Amino acid sequence: SSWWSNVEMGPPDVILGVTEAFKKDNNPKKMNLGVGAYRDDNGKPYILPSVRKAEEMVVAANLDKEYSPIGGDAEYCSSVAKLAFGTDSPVITNKLNVTVQSISGTGALRIGAAYFSKWHSKSKDFYIPSPSWGNHTPILKHSGLEVKSYRYYDPKTCGFDFAGAMEDISKIPEGSVILLHACAHNPTGVDPKPEQWAEMSSVIKSRKIFPFFDMAYQGFASGDTKKDAFAVRKFIEDGHQVSLCQSFAKNMGLYGERAGAFTLICSDADEAARVMSQVKIIIRPMYSNPPVHGARLVKTILTTPELNAQWLTEVKGMADRIIGMRTKLVEGLAKEGSSKNWQHVTDQIGMFCFTGLTPEQVGRLTKEFSIYLTKDGRISVAGVCSGNVDYLAHAIHTVTK
Ligand code: PMP
Repeated sequence: SSWWSNVEMGPPDVILGVTEAFKKDNNPKKMNLGVGAYRDDNGKPYILPSVRKAEEMVVAANLDKEYSPIGGDAEYCSSVAKLAFGTDSPVITNKLNVTVQSISGTGALRIGAAYFSKWHSKSKDFYIPSPSWGNHTPILKHSGLEVKSYRYYDPKTCGFDFAGAMEDISKIPEGSVILLHACAHNPTGVDPKPEQWAEMSSVIKSRKIFPFFDMAYQGFASGDTKKDAFAVRKFIEDGHQVSLCQSFAKNMGLYGERAGAFTLICSDADEAARVMSQVKIIIRPMYSNPPVHGARLVKTILTTPELNAQWLTEVKGMADRIIGMRTKLVEGLAKEGSSKNWQHVTDQIGMFCFTGLTPEQVGRLTKEFSIYLTKDGRISVAGVCSGNVDYLAHAIHTVTK
């Protein structure tokens, strides 16, 4: 018999499962609201014109395909750190950041998890929001970390459970790590307000908890990269030594290029050198060194002033289109005659909207309208466009009235 006859069939990935079912549907009105990738107003994948230009510049530069250093391209790392922390941040001017290129945001989380598992001796406990991105738990567990949670989403208001979060955070034991979505929380689209972030920063500081930021959507939430970095910058201003995972999948539309970064902040140059040496020792046996192409595109955009300005306009264009669809959806529901309060749809931000639909209502949307989404009622607003928003409003009203 085979060596692998004992292997059981694993469950399919829930989100990819939604896409599979969508593909099999022949209804011309079908909608895929499961997938977390931006679509233009014709429902088509979007390649940013700034990315196209950067690509032309990279090709014209006739670069070789030699290996990257273990931590990736140094100029890439410095430009992405400046984007996150701000060019004038003391972190940047005092060179306190240890930043390595990663295999997109997932890869950044993997490096972070492995680093904390080895070097954060105080605790193995990571507190993640409830709910959180479905991949956080398996990534952290893979590195031997303990996953715990704090209250975040309030199903009653479809908003942020600030009081619940503060109560839970104030009970987290000293030395633990708290994972925070910097902006555009996935899957809920619910973000704390600036004054709530300030209070969270303060209690996290006084409880001596380590803030670990996942920032997969900088610029993609509000359309403004500085505004979306508020939480990260505020925590640093408050004296936290944060860690940060970055991704350029959404804000530059570089999904398959896998460009990201992982950062730790140190207290001085000597510590930074020691920490960098250990981060490289973690990366080397995982994948040796990161891919070059996506990072070249990001670096070109961030370091070429005209191209950077163009990108900022384009990322705002994507964010604005999504914000516009939220408004249109709520207007459409009102036109249909829905008496329900849908304000959370416009209060929430980023790619996803937690509609508050029950699993039964989601089942009906799929069965009766060929609208595909995850059972938790999350829709990817990026999959909604002018041509189908009214159909979606009609369908949601039908299953919720
Ligand atoms: N963190 C969060 C919260 C996300 O939503 C995502 C993308 N779905 C990621 C990390 C990582 O994505 P990627 O590896 O494609 O950059």
